[in-house]
Amino acid sequence: MGQVQAKPQRKKRVLVVGAGAAGTACAWSLSRFPERFDVEVWEALPVPGGVASSCSVKDGKHVINDQVQGGAPSYRHNLRLLEMFGFKPTPVLMRIAFGVGDKQWTNHSASELTSRLQPEIRRFGLVIRWIKRLEPLFVFVPIDRLLRFLRFSDEFRYEMVFPLVALFFGTGNQTPHVSAAVIARVFLDPDLRLFDYCPKRLLNSVPEMFAFPVLEDIWTTIARKSNFKLCCSRPLDKLRRQPRSNGNSGVVVATDASGVSEVFDEVVFACDAETVLRTMENPTWLERRLLRNVRYYTDFCLTHEDHDYMSRMYDVRPAQRDNYFVRTYSGRDRDKIEMSFNLSTYQPHLKEAGLDIYQTYYLDAQLRHLWSDGQVDSRKVLASRWMRQFAHTWTHFAFWVPWVRFIQGTRSTWYCGSYTMVNTQEIAVISGLAAAERLGADYPFPDDPLAAKQFDTYMAVVHGARRRRPAGGSPAAAATKEK
Ligand SMILES: Cc1cc2nc3c(=O)[nH]c(=O)nc-3n(C[C@H](O)[C@H](O)[C@H](O)COP(=O)(O)OP(=O)(O)OC[C@H]3O[C@@H](n4cnc5c(N)ncnc54)[C@H](O)[C@@H]3O)c2cc1C
Repeated sequence: MGQVQAKPQRKKRVLVVGAGAAGTACAWSLSRFPERFDVEVWEALPVPGGVASSCSVKDGKHVINDQVQGGAPSYRHNLRLLEMFGFKPTPVLMRIAFGVGDKQWTNHSASELTSRLQPEIRRFGLVIRWIKRLEPLFVFVPIDRLLRFLRFSDEFRYEMVFPLVALFFGTGNQTPHVSAAVIARVFLDPDLRLFDYCPKRLLNSVPEMFAFPVLEDIWTTIARKSNFKLCCSRPLDKLRRQPRSNGNSGVVVATDASGVSEVFDEVVFACDAETVLRTMENPTWLERRLLRNVRYYTDFCLTHEDHDYMSRMYDVRPAQRDNYFVRTYSGRDRDKIEMSFNLSTYQPHLKEAGLDIYQTYYLDAQLRHLWSDGQVDSRKVLASRWMRQFAHTWTHFAFWVPWVRFIQGTRSTWYCGSYTMVNTQEIAVISGLAAAERLGADYPFPDDPLAAKQFDTYMAVVHGARRRRPAGGSPAAAATKEK
């Protein structure tokens, strides 16, 4: 009797919507298995990268990374991808100057404010340790409410805690409403910790971070060397999920802005939640209910060379080589924040060219009356950009993050992007790899214990699932194609 031939499995057609860090990571991971997946990425913009973008300034003479700048050594997935595609990050020391006058403090030297608030700084150390111990409870508690309840002074909250929190989670100027559990992690989570807590000065370390090389080159190189089809300037306009039926293998019908429709087996949304809600024609009740819980705010960024503005608004001491500057507004708006940084400390080619290029972020357009963007000399403005960013309020962690798992995979639809957890470049990449893993593309970095641990945590929280352990190892770089 002849052998029964196994029927070759039909490739799954997967549409990834959005070519930011999450979408690109997802498409790359799936494309390592070209025998199983046929991957197409639709991106609304003319270039991939999303907010991890580059642009040229000063009549095209200099290229800058104009949004995302860098990360911590714990960003294992980003670092592994950079290495795999031949890119080298640059080390950067993170030096931050907070406040002005008698409210000034830094992460590298003592100040009048830190001496004055020392008893509260010590007590804060006890509080974050308790938060860590009882984390599931404190997820639901905004930091401001907790610190007020524990009778921390206005000065400690407004001048120390909020500016520090805003640096990482300040999008939309929602700092007082950030979950206390998230803040404890910044200090105490051994894998994610950015600063060591110091009982005398709150911060007394200058962490070594890394800066990305030109970001646009990274995404275009990954796309060029991988087996997926990247379609830039092709925004998704409508998405209809249809039940499987005989003779119709595809279940997802995607239509782009020009009205052209294509059929896919699965869709991975790697864009923002607002776009998902706008484009999805037949969301389930739960999808609609949950996606609405991701709250977005409009922020504005000026890229400029106005040293006078920086000296007027912040404590700028050139000898200190600070890269971040954070200030609070005055009076009743002391819980609102503006921040700037010196791009040239992140991008060595700018320093070598003798340039000091700054970026100033104005948060939440509804607070526009507080902004001082009008005080930046317009002749010294190099670029400006409006951004729509989600906020890390406690509601994000109470009503969205733990629930995403219940809509993952509904009607062949998957969700990735940093908004599925926290707004970092590392979470964006992990989230893309996680969506790919759920579709059947093995996790690429099981040999890296820290990376695997972070990935497993993300999988547990956002997918309620465990990573598959492949028997024969993982073809991490195997399917990148040389061109
Ligand atoms: C200004 C700024 C600076 C930051 N700096 C840092 C930093 O230094 N370090 C760090 O760790 N994190 C930083 N972050 C956060 C982090 O980088 C982001 O969270 C991460 O890059 C987001 O990636 P993403 O793929 O989830 O989303 P995005 O980058 O937003 O990608 C989503 C993509 O979807 C596309 N899209 C939208 N609608 C459609 C549509 N209808 N059809 C097709 N495509 C569509 C968009 O054009 C975009 O390319 C920064 C964020 C911002 C905004």
